[in-house]
This record gives sequence, C-alpha cells and structure tokens, in this order.
Amino acid sequence: MQRPVRVAVVGSGPSGMYAADALTSQEDIAVSVDIIDRLPSPFGLVRYGVAPDHLSIRSVRDTLDKVLDKPGVRFLGNVEVGVDLTIAQLREFYDAVILTYGASRDRALGIPGEDLAGSIAATDFVNWYTGHPDVDPGQYVAFLRETTSVAVIGVGNVAVDVTRVLSKAPGEIDWTDMPQHVLDALRESSVTDVHVIGRRGPAQATWTTKELRELGELEQAQVIVAEGGDVSDEASRKAADDKAVARNIAVVEDWSQRADDGRARRIHLHFRCRPVEILGDTRVEGLVVERTELDAQGQAHGTGETHVVPVDAVIRSVGYRGTALDGVPFDASRNVIPNAEGRVVDDGTPVPGLYVAGWIKRGPTGIIGTNKKDAVQTVACLLQDAQSPQFLTATQPDPDGVDAALAGRAVDAGGWRRIDAAERALGATRGRERTTLWSREELLAAARN
Ligand code: NAP
Repeated sequence: MQRPVRVAVVGSGPSGMYAADALTSQEDIAVSVDIIDRLPSPFGLVRYGVAPDHLSIRSVRDTLDKVLDKPGVRFLGNVEVGVDLTIAQLREFYDAVILTYGASRDRALGIPGEDLAGSIAATDFVNWYTGHPDVDPGQYVAFLRETTSVAVIGVGNVAVDVTRVLSKAPGEIDWTDMPQHVLDALRESSVTDVHVIGRRGPAQATWTTKELRELGELEQAQVIVAEGGDVSDEASRKAADDKAVARNIAVVEDWSQRADDGRARRIHLHFRCRPVEILGDTRVEGLVVERTELDAQGQAHGTGETHVVPVDAVIRSVGYRGTALDGVPFDASRNVIPNAEGRVVDDGTPVPGLYVAGWIKRGPTGIIGTNKKDAVQTVACLLQDAQSPQFLTATQPDPDGVDAALAGRAVDAGGWRRIDAAERALGATRGRERTTLWSREELLAAARN
C-alpha cells in the first residue's frame, strides 16, 4: 500500500490549522500532517493578536484546538523553520510544505521622527499585552507611566483594539487572560487622551462597526470627533451605498453630536489628517499632520495645511507586513509569497510541493474566517497535485526522521495541553479563567512538566 502523503504546515495560526483540518477532513488521499510553529503554543494571532477582551473571537481557539486531536495530525511547537529546520530539510522529510507563517512585522510610515523614543509599532504593543514570549515584560511599563497623550495612527481594527485597551478602566480588563505584569502596567497608566489619526474620512476607515461601537461604550472614556468627520464629498457619498460603510458613518455622526461629559479619558477621532512628521529631539513631543482632501476615488491628497496634534507618544497601527523565508520565492513589493491559488510560483512557474495560505499568501487582510476559505483553496490544489505518483518526493518520510533532527526540542499537543492547564491553574489563583504564561522558559517548563 502506498504510504500517506506527508505534509508540513509551517505556522499554527488560523490558516495553518484550517489547512491541517481540510487535509484531514477528506478520505480520497491518505495524509499525515505535522503543524510546525516557532512558539511552544499554537494558534498564532488568535493567541497573540486577537484582543484579550474579545472573548467570542478568542474562543475560536477551542475550534482550532480540536484539529490537534485529529488522527494523522501532530503539533511540533518550539521549532523555527529557517533556524531549527531549513526549508531544504523540510523537503527531505515531507512531500509537501504549506507555508502559513503570516505577516508578523509592522509596516513603516516613512516619516521623520518615526524612530524617536515613544514611537512604537502597534504590532509590538499587541504582542506585549497578549504576552508574546519575544517581548520583554517591562518594555511598555515606563511608556504607559510617562505618556498622557498618545496618537494611534491608522483607522483599522488593530487601531481600535489598541485604543480600547489604552482607554478601558482596570475593572473592564482585569478579568482577561493578559499576563499580570500587563494588567499592573495598564492600571498604572497615565494615558488620558488617545488621538486616533485617519488619513481619509469615516467612509474609508477599515474598522468594523461592532468593534468601532465598543469605543463608545467604555466606562471612563468619551469619544470626541475632533476633525474631518464630514462625509459630503463625492467618494464618501458613493461609499455609503455599502451598508457596512453607512453603519460606520452613522456611529461617527452620532458621536459628533454628543457634548463633552467631562469623563477622565478621551478618545479624539481625527479624520483627513495625514501624519507628516513626529516631533522631538530624543523622544516624541508632538505629531505634525497635514489636512487632506479626497479625490473622486476616495484617495487622500495633502492640502499643504498642517497642524500639531499634542501627543507625547505615537503608536503606528498602519498594518502588518510579511517577511521572506530563506529558500522561498518572495514578492518584496507586496510582502507576500507569489502564488497561484496557493501553489507557490517562482518567476511564474509553480514550485513542486510548495504551497502557501493565509496572510503570507494574500496580505494582512480579512477576518479569521477568511483564512478558512483561503486554506481550503490551497489544500484543494495540493490534493489535486497529490494524485500524481511523482508527488511522493520525501526521501525520509518516516516521522522518526524529523523527530531525530529535532532531538527532543519540539513541544507536542500533549505539551501544549499542559501549558493550557498551567495557564488555567494560574488564572484560578486570581479568580480568572486563565492567565497567559509569557516567558518561553515558563512555557517550556509547563510543557515538559
Ligand atoms: P488595516 O485594516 O489595513 O488598517 C490599516 C490602517 O492604516 C488603515 O486605516 C490605513 O489607511 C492606515 N494607513 C496605512 N498606511 C498609512 C500611512 N502611511 N499613513 C496613515 N495611515 C495609514 O490593518 P489592521 O488594523 O492592522 O488590521 C489587519 C487585519 O486584521 C484587518 O483585516 C483587520 O480587520 C483584522 N483585525 C480584525 C479584528 C477584529 O475583527 N476584531 C481585530 C484586529 C484586526 P488607508 O485605508 O488610507 O490605507
């Protein structure tokens, strides 16, 4: 009997887990799947991206977790491809590799002052408050203590998450699974004003209404529409034909009519403001923005009129960015792996046995569910290719081969379950459902307990 097709899925975020699920939910071709992740814990951005106070979205992890129990699926955590295993080695151990390692870096603004102290990337701040093991726990303690007014640049859902986390009262966030040092630092935060900066108007913002509305429901923060909320231009009127856009506009309009109610914290929404410079000698002392006008296509153009938004810190939330992996083609203009429906292509030619799914396939857009459809498309290509007998290219297809190469460093699903249990036990000591273990040493110790 022919041996099963051996597939490595690199990355255990939603797209990787959905790919493993799709591979093992069909019976036409026998498949065994190893899901490899550089972190000891699975689920990628569901753990280290989705805001900890968004319980319903975070509960996707329960669905993803079930994939780890499926016959033919193994988890190999704490294994970094490119460091612990090269792509060339993967090609020896597996017939096919699906790259689903996402887009973990921040995009740059490319304006003067971006590297000043007090100017940080939202991706790093999100990693910190979700307890990512790569982030020093003390990293943003002084930042929060010394900042009273902060600009959040960008009007997407990550900007909304960051703004909400900065503006919530301790009681609104203490119950989450954030590491204790994060909750302590947020409790000590001096931030009273968050200025959210959109270079276009409310009709062009990429946030979703449900998330946006939450900003208006916070205990101690009021939303103020500071400038540029007008939607009477041609592009915005046209965009408002879309129901989702119209809902966003209605929320902003409602806020623009509210009077100042003297609450302790304020969220100022600035639209049609393009950041042009972050002021300061060694650290942030203000943000210069230029007013913009929208053309008929809804694109922003500077008017030459500038003003300073009074902030002492900046959080850049202008999107995630994918990075290249040694030995894999990369499109540096789009920061994705070039592909045709999930088959990796090099100069237009498919690379046999190499596939891609998720953000590193199509860029950092869409909700978690978008990755399911995307992974299913990739897996369909793989299964079609696997009908050829030439597909079985692995020279060491026995799982023992990769296990020997990893020499015991991998955390398996059992190890992850022990981390899970340790986090629940730690949470219970403070009356919480879970407290995230943030250090790699602690995660590994729990996994190997
Ligand atoms: P995003 O939705 O692409 O938003 C990026 C924002 O940055 C946009 O407002 C964009 O404005 C702005 N921007 C880009 N370059 C800029 C520049 N040079 N100057 C000023 N502004 C600039 O990205 P994201 O917020 O990082 O979210 C990534 C994905 O994750 C999205 O699909 C998002 O929906 C998803 N997500 C979902 C949730 C949730 O469902 N709760 C939570 C977090 C993230 P322009 O439009 O003008 O380019």
